[in-house]
Amino acid sequence: MMSRSLLRLAVAGAVATASALLAAVPADAKQAPRTVPVRLLALNDFHGNLEPPTGSSGRMVDETGATVEAGGAAYIATHMKAHTDKNTIAVAQGDLIGATPLISAAYHDEPSVEFLGKLGLKVAAVGNHEFDEGYAELRRIMKGGCHPVDGCSPAGEWKGAQYDYVGANVLFKNRGEKTDALAALGEQPAVRKLLSDWGVPALPPVSVKWMNGVPVGFIGLVTQTTPGIVTAEGIKDLKFVDEVKAANVASKVLKVLGVKAQVVLVHEGDQVNAGQSPDACSAVPGAGNRIATQVDPEIDVVLSGHSHQAYLCKVKDPAGQDRLYSQGGSFGRVITQVDLNVDVRTRDVVRSSVVADNHVVTRTVEPDRDISDFVKAWKDRVAPVANKPVGRITADIPNTGGPSGETPLGDLIADAQLAATRTGGNAQVALMNPGGVRAPLTYAGSPAGEGPGVVTYGEAFTVQPFNNLMQVVTLTGAQLKTVLEQQFTGGPNNQAFTKILQPSANLTYTYSTSAPWGSKVSDIRIDGAPVTDTQQIRVAANNFLVGGGDAFLAFKDGTDLWSGPLDIDAFVDHLGKDNPIAPPATDRITVTS
Ligand SMILES: [Zn+2]
Repeated sequence: MMSRSLLRLAVAGAVATASALLAAVPADAKQAPRTVPVRLLALNDFHGNLEPPTGSSGRMVDETGATVEAGGAAYIATHMKAHTDKNTIAVAQGDLIGATPLISAAYHDEPSVEFLGKLGLKVAAVGNHEFDEGYAELRRIMKGGCHPVDGCSPAGEWKGAQYDYVGANVLFKNRGEKTDALAALGEQPAVRKLLSDWGVPALPPVSVKWMNGVPVGFIGLVTQTTPGIVTAEGIKDLKFVDEVKAANVASKVLKVLGVKAQVVLVHEGDQVNAGQSPDACSAVPGAGNRIATQVDPEIDVVLSGHSHQAYLCKVKDPAGQDRLYSQGGSFGRVITQVDLNVDVRTRDVVRSSVVADNHVVTRTVEPDRDISDFVKAWKDRVAPVANKPVGRITADIPNTGGPSGETPLGDLIADAQLAATRTGGNAQVALMNPGGVRAPLTYAGSPAGEGPGVVTYGEAFTVQPFNNLMQVVTLTGAQLKTVLEQQFTGGPNNQAFTKILQPSANLTYTYSTSAPWGSKVSDIRIDGAPVTDTQQIRVAANNFLVGGGDAFLAFKDGTDLWSGPLDIDAFVDHLGKDNPIAPPATDRITVTS
């Protein structure tokens, strides 16, 4: 903690160089109330869900334990208005864009960023998905201009985000790089000095917003695992450093500026027990909890994201004081409300005053009229993109299949993924998680008017909607066998259901339904040749599986990670070749009793 006189000195120094920041100091502090209220309304992991998300992505357990329909931009707007008062600052914790539905993805997510501006969002941390299209594209989204390849959207020249993006732990690798990330801080020498030992920020580390005569500082952080989950090329000039260290430097920057009410917006979080109330605390302390407990005691509140869970926790900061640590689910299903009081003299948050509530964005309210119209306009605009033919098929290609668990569409996607990763990733085989094949491809013409057998971009996107990245890792033959064993229930990986990975055409094997776990899989072959335990194999899969998703933990032993194109792009490219495509025979896996 800084002594009072030091604080005054720091503030005085800041006044000289950043008068704009300090212009709103109450003229007569004696007449001002001792504390002033500030309300934060926070969103995380919106992922472009302008239309109400469907399926499990559109359901949420509420405070009563009931599962209710939740999310959708027009409903978010209604709920935001209901909870907004004159003390409110709207903020967000990243992954607002990236991995978005076609209505947003088709326009590089400009519709989503425009919506969030209309919603009144003021500050957002970057998430890993903000880097999906690379740093240069994130800067375009922040600052405006038309897309360098696809040009302007039907709405005209992009004007830039109406809110600040912050990311204190995103630095340039090259210390000689020029940065414009400090422009909003008045290019202060004191700030520059603090940062000169630290690194060259690629994004503004903090944003300061005034409310009721006090400054509130927001520190942005993104998971330091970002390089492993986004395309390498787009972030090749950047490094993502330890979140706690970065937060503590940013906190000092804020102190130099005289800002003591400090809020971390962090795109990293923890898991909870399924079905718990959105107002309950996280059950499993992980990467998010580490940040929430370890960052500087000057930081008053930690709002998190990334794990798509809803929780409200109270953790101890390093000085032993209670600190709020929360998250608001995903896809716009939850708004986190935080009410706090700031002492006008010390400008610090009165910790005991912090109260938080997670509001489920129910659809039982009247949808906001303006936002409904806005979403409808984009839905109309995207229709021609959605209806664009990308390939032809000779018959239905279903995502359900025979007793082995292999499906024609799963096989086709695995073939597409192998084709897209052979060059660059040197992939030899591909495996696709069955849950990621979201819908069948149907031969019949669609209501949009395309003829029988034509596959549109919209249909392909419905099958592969996640914008997962294709990745390739090296597994030994023994590790590949372990991955295949992990398909079955009963093992130490806690597979809840048997999940048969969809193999590319050149990967064949046999499994026994009666053999015990760990010896079910035999006769693994690649291009007809038996696989040995020590053989090194380049295996392609989406980033979800490579990260150990669906309890395929053996994928995490993979080495020499390579990240390539989006899965939807791999699929669409493949649909455009070998026209028309017949449903693959599901003969890659042999089942014995
Ligand atoms: Zn994320």
